[in-house]
Amino acid sequence: MKYILLALFFSINFAQAGVKINGENIFFASVINEVVRILPSDFLSSVDGDIIVEEFPSSNTESLTDNLCQMSEETKLGFLKQNKIFVNTQLILLAKTNTTLFHCGHGTFLKLLKAVLIHELTHVKDNHEKISLDPEFQRIVGVKKITLNSKKKVINQVLEVSPDPYEFKNLEESLAVNAEYLILDPEYECRKPASAQYLSKRLGIQLKRICKKNYDILLQSSFLEDHYRTKASIDPKRVYQIHYLFASKGESLMSRWGHAMFRLVICAPFRTEISEDCLQDISHHVVLSYRAKISDPSINYASGLTGKYPSQLYLLRYMEVLQEYTKFELRDLISIPLNLSLDQKKDFLNLTIERFWTYQGKYYFLDNNCGTEAVKQLSSVLTDSESALIRSTTPLRIYKDIINSKNNFTAYGIDTLTRQELKDKGYLVESMHKNFYESFQFLKKFIPSFSNISFSEFLKNLSAEKRFIEYQNLFDDLERYDVNEQKMIILKIHHLERLLAAKYLQTIPSKVMKFFNKDSTLKHQVLTISQELKVLSLAPWEVIKSVYGVPNEIEFKNQFQYFLTKMKSTLETEAEIHMNTLLSILDKNYFAKELNELNHMLKIKKITSSVIISRNEEFITRSTYEK
Ligand SMILES: [Zn+2]
Repeated sequence: MKYILLALFFSINFAQAGVKINGENIFFASVINEVVRILPSDFLSSVDGDIIVEEFPSSNTESLTDNLCQMSEETKLGFLKQNKIFVNTQLILLAKTNTTLFHCGHGTFLKLLKAVLIHELTHVKDNHEKISLDPEFQRIVGVKKITLNSKKKVINQVLEVSPDPYEFKNLEESLAVNAEYLILDPEYECRKPASAQYLSKRLGIQLKRICKKNYDILLQSSFLEDHYRTKASIDPKRVYQIHYLFASKGESLMSRWGHAMFRLVICAPFRTEISEDCLQDISHHVVLSYRAKISDPSINYASGLTGKYPSQLYLLRYMEVLQEYTKFELRDLISIPLNLSLDQKKDFLNLTIERFWTYQGKYYFLDNNCGTEAVKQLSSVLTDSESALIRSTTPLRIYKDIINSKNNFTAYGIDTLTRQELKDKGYLVESMHKNFYESFQFLKKFIPSFSNISFSEFLKNLSAEKRFIEYQNLFDDLERYDVNEQKMIILKIHHLERLLAAKYLQTIPSKVMKFFNKDSTLKHQVLTISQELKVLSLAPWEVIKSVYGVPNEIEFKNQFQYFLTKMKSTLETEAEIHMNTLLSILDKNYFAKELNELNHMLKIKKITSSVIISRNEEFITRSTYEK
């Protein structure tokens, strides 16, 4: 056996380790030469001794096809044994003879051969440096818990947006596969910007900076008619601040879990300067919220998450989130600016687009929830010693760690502010509990029976039928009050009924689900709804498909336009069919109570509107759920 001693040739490149080929294949030697040349000179500086590269014959059973896109995942292209790399002979031959450009993977057999070499050399490096165990790498890849086991399966398994699903096998393979693309594909930096940033730093690979990053995202929504209908840009150049956004539990600020989110303070397009004025542009602000994604939309609102649902990053309008928590759920929202440098902000946003377009984890109520996902995202832009300061797993404790004045994540002293001070500084938006409570107190003066119950009993226990009777009695006698009082009475009733209707409608799907398996007709009807509402369960990468990772500008523009056109024609009819199906589902014996409740809500709406119309006044502005 003869060694072509490439080490001599490459010794300038590799200070400590030489790469030697075992064999006489000149073509193969030249490819190895080229790969070594594109790697940084100190790439293998941690490795003692030489690395031998050798061909291995592929067995008859797994012969390589000449179509790159039809290659079986079982085909072994290369492997590593200690410091010896083995490469499939057939692949080397195809790299030399087949120059076809394919539209998948690395595109050509020659590039694939280079990728195999890079892949195995990365393993060699990783075996010595344990890069795949770096907590920062694990946070970017997405793991349930930071682990010391590089062979552990990766939590994200969204195969369709991966350049090569083999990356999900474990952390080691994730590192090796991503190194291939970082080095060989100039688009990689824009397709997986957070991974690219990390790997270039850690592997010493210069970024090429040829491609153009696309920061356009699709806004999601709990409302079917808004879901994926608007795009927003989260370009770091337009983001003034990033806030930790925390939804607490009503009045008792420090109780229960709460929900951990982030808020991007994006400046309105008309602003030429990125300044604190952008804090006022709340209709442009975007919220990052890790939620359990429930694939059957008919149980979208069901509470009690058990861990079988995927966890996904949702990007929502701040205005919608604000309304959802402060109005419908009667919770406070706390929004605290994070001290982040320009680079940290950029890294955070790069990870946001990478996560949005490529990531789906698993939602475990205790181990992997909105809080832990949020911490992992934030930690990925902090140093290890900084991220060690956020040790908690529940949103409330995370909040306390973040505002702790001993840490430097927020302005000093936020942890000492009173509720009123938080409000004055704009960090706290109170729940609308107080407003609704005041409406209720006002109505007590006119509806005596309301005095016998508490506000929470009114919200939870008083049926629409009973409320309807009370309102009807009151309206029969309305003339005895002066015009201003009349107006106030109707406004307050409408105010409270809007809340009650919205809250009630949210509980219906989960009630329906309880009977799901008891009745095949019902099951069929619910599934029909699911079809109609399928768009609610679509992941962003199912709306806009990319070659892999983040879609580029062209992919985004074309497919978004197509999606909008398609939706526009189907939406209106679908929403109506959906309501009718829902009503027919409820028209079952075991839903008599629900149907009665809904009918009385409609009656309440009717009489309040008729009173308004008879007075020829437009008291009421359109509410969201009436849209
Ligand atoms: Zn590997």
